[in-house]
Amino acid sequence: MRISLRFELASRYAAAVALGIALIAAIGYLVLRDSLDRQINASLIAVASIQAASVTDDPSGEMHFHEWDVTVEEAASLGDLNRYSQIWNESGESLLRSRYLTRDLPLDHARLAETAAGEFTWSEGQLFEVRVRSIYYPLGRLGPSHERHVLQVAAPLKARDGTLRRAGQYLVTIVLLVSIGSFLGSWWLAGKTVRPVNDIIQQAEGIDGALLGQRISAYAETKEFASLVHVLNTMLSRIDKAFESQRRFTADASHELRSPLTALRGELELALRKERTGEEYRSAIASSLEEATRLSDVTADLLTLARSDAGVMTLRLECVDLGERVMAALERLRGRLSKKEVETVVSLEPDAKGMFDLKLVDQLIWNLLDNAVKYCHEAGTIDVSLASSGSGFTLEVADTGPGIPEKDVDRIFDRFSRVDEAHSAEGTGLGLSIVRAIALAHGGSVTASNREGGGAVFRVSLPVTSPEA
Ligand code: ADP
Repeated sequence: MRISLRFELASRYAAAVALGIALIAAIGYLVLRDSLDRQINASLIAVASIQAASVTDDPSGEMHFHEWDVTVEEAASLGDLNRYSQIWNESGESLLRSRYLTRDLPLDHARLAETAAGEFTWSEGQLFEVRVRSIYYPLGRLGPSHERHVLQVAAPLKARDGTLRRAGQYLVTIVLLVSIGSFLGSWWLAGKTVRPVNDIIQQAEGIDGALLGQRISAYAETKEFASLVHVLNTMLSRIDKAFESQRRFTADASHELRSPLTALRGELELALRKERTGEEYRSAIASSLEEATRLSDVTADLLTLARSDAGVMTLRLECVDLGERVMAALERLRGRLSKKEVETVVSLEPDAKGMFDLKLVDQLIWNLLDNAVKYCHEAGTIDVSLASSGSGFTLEVADTGPGIPEKDVDRIFDRFSRVDEAHSAEGTGLGLSIVRAIALAHGGSVTASNREGGGAVFRVSLPVTSPEA
């Protein structure tokens, strides 16, 4: 079950207040009870000592209390203020009783025995349906003629019990009222505390796919919530950016696939329109094949990038000599290089071995060299260098082509980004994004810059894991 934060805050605060108040109330109650008891006990001791003196006063041994001259009715009207006295012998026989006491005091025989033996004791009992507290006073202490006589003086506890009961009721009521009050107060306060979160949630809920450009403005300036709002807004920006690039990517991809498909279809429709010679059919098939190859290239590139996006570009690591792979790629480009009369200057670190994915590394090298040949001016130079650096290798491919306009250096690795449509017509605009995806998958990086005197330089760093590892 989900508990609302507001309820949790309010109930915790109210419980803490209630506990504190209840504790104070309990202490107050105990202090009051103790003080009332002390007063009653002090009065019992005072009356007992007066009555003991009065009882043992007469040398003839005759016992009489120090009494007011009041009737039973008058005594009854004094209620709680009365102190009743009675003398017992050790076997519980009444020897003397206050004049206005119409029945025996409640006798506790165990206490009587203890007191007859010389100890002061206390007990509580019932007299006329009223609780009374008694003190037992050993009269033997005051002379041998009263050996084993016990004086009992009792005080009604009605007023004391009533006071305590009322005080208890007041205190319980106060505790309840304060608890309810503090719950309501903290409910209101907690409501104010959680309201910003609700407002922020409400605004966040209002931002759907179509309104990703919107941001949360609620409580963006409040110290406690500013960072939450900032985090959410940053996340929204990231999602917005990802959405946008995904949208662009999908649009570009479909456009990229549609062009060769349309060309292919046109080519085939044209070929079928009438009877053709063998030569014409061959030419139509050859150009259809060209479009089909382009289609399969784009599809393969898109698949590689989709894998990289999904984080499933799994590397089949094996021991690869990067120098060998560069030489193999240059060998494949030999025809195009000599056609453009491009000179290559190659400087390779011998034994540049490490654990890489052979196919992906080949693709990375190919994409860079292919671009270099594509964009290099006629009779230009391509410099390829492979050097060990720190914990890996750095592959550098530089050409003497037009270079990259400064404003495009950063976006050149984006998908379908083409700087110069005229030069890039044959490319898909995916080659460099694939280079970056492969470098990243290997834990490396790639940068682009322009060389002095013209031409582009691409630098790839690949950290190396040794074949042993
Ligand atoms: P493409 O398949 O179109 O070449 P790439 O992702 O490989 O796609 O390159 C993206 C863009 O970067 C190219 O269209 C081109 O404008 C630019 N570019 C790539 N390599 C070079 C280079 N060596 N010199 C100049 N521009 C380049």
